[in-house]
Amino acid sequence: MGHPISRDSAVFLRDMERRKVGILGATGMVGQRFIQLLNHHPWFEVAWLAASDRSAGKTYGEACKWKLDTPLPAHIAGMTVMPSVPEGTAGAGGAGELPKIIFAALDAEHARELEPKFAAAGCAVVSNSSAFRMTEDVPLVVPEVNADHLELIERQSWRKDPSADGVPGGYIVTNPNCCAIGLVLPLKPLEERFGIESLFVSTMQAVSGAGYPGVASLDILGNVIPYIKNEEEKLQEEVGKLLGKLGRGGIETLDAKLSAHCNRVAVEDGHMECVSIKLKTKATREEILAAWAEFAPLAGLKLPTAPEQPVEFDVSPDRPQPRLDRMRGHGMASTVGRLRECNLLDWKFVVLSHNTIRGAAGAAVLNAEVLARLGKLDFKKTVAIQRDAVLV
Ligand code: NAP
Repeated sequence: MGHPISRDSAVFLRDMERRKVGILGATGMVGQRFIQLLNHHPWFEVAWLAASDRSAGKTYGEACKWKLDTPLPAHIAGMTVMPSVPEGTAGAGGAGELPKIIFAALDAEHARELEPKFAAAGCAVVSNSSAFRMTEDVPLVVPEVNADHLELIERQSWRKDPSADGVPGGYIVTNPNCCAIGLVLPLKPLEERFGIESLFVSTMQAVSGAGYPGVASLDILGNVIPYIKNEEEKLQEEVGKLLGKLGRGGIETLDAKLSAHCNRVAVEDGHMECVSIKLKTKATREEILAAWAEFAPLAGLKLPTAPEQPVEFDVSPDRPQPRLDRMRGHGMASTVGRLRECNLLDWKFVVLSHNTIRGAAGAAVLNAEVLARLGKLDFKKTVAIQRDAVLV
């Protein structure tokens, strides 16, 4: 598979201290998921929160309309929201020095302006936004699919510019669009075993995918909106990069035809995708099911956020469903169902994934866990890689 994190090259983390992390866009839908997923995370501790000038200076509890079904942690509610500038600030409520690891949940316009400033300040920016996903030297990563693309970090100018005492510089890593993530998980083992010739996908995307307050209730209740700005282009381009190969000149995108229709539906969380696929080599139903069942590229790496089974197949004729299946694998699995022959292409099936967990904050946290395993969160002169030590 060419997966870059092997059992004998992962960084030894048994005695690792929890690393301080910051969140840009902390008050939004994805920012809130970061806070939920990082609460009690064994490797990361939220130490700095930032949002727009509307929120800066307030406590997080005052600035944020908390929308999740677990309580807002009290220590986070009391933290002061900082302005989105890469400066260490001795604020009240625990917002101290700027952490070296920044999870970013900004819309693309603000990400384009702000994320490079944090990378230039020496931070590892782990971003959700589309601003730099297709930039040549920026990795667009789903760890089970293309963790080897993380090597692109070393080509970024910020990274190549060490500080005066030799500490490597910062960088930007991105995770894909929320539909692309759910989709590439079942596609990857099919591409590896049979090759993909063409793909047709039609999405039914939840309202939380548009952020808060998002789509007006009068527009979406009892309705379907057959347009999400730039979404079809993003889905098509990003799948090509994710399933592409890392070469000397950058990523060679997947050589396949992709066509997407994207729709907003009146579902709270969980994006569903109806897929038809033509494979380069013919495959039987059993071979496809085996490819999904055996797909476990992160097995044994003990990454706290990685699902045991990234692609879960459900045999029931009426599954997956958003309300019933979006939390599989703690919201990190892609659930697939209804595999059947297609009259136009070879096979068709349905995919479901949680858009703000697997499709956003959870994806970024998993990317950071892989970066930690690869030693790329160690901002020291030399990174000690201890062999055979991590997976005992
Ligand atoms: P959101 O709910 O609208 O939140 C936006 C965040 O950005 C808020 O914290 C907001 O702070 C902050 N912000 C706005 N203007 C700012 C400025 N000028 N400077 C600094 N911060 C500013 O959006 P979201 O749904 O969380 O999405 C965040 C990003 O993740 C977007 O790029 C989106 O495309 C991507 N994404 C979202 C999903 C999803 O399912 N929702 C999935 C994948 C990717 P205030 O509260 O102070 O305004």
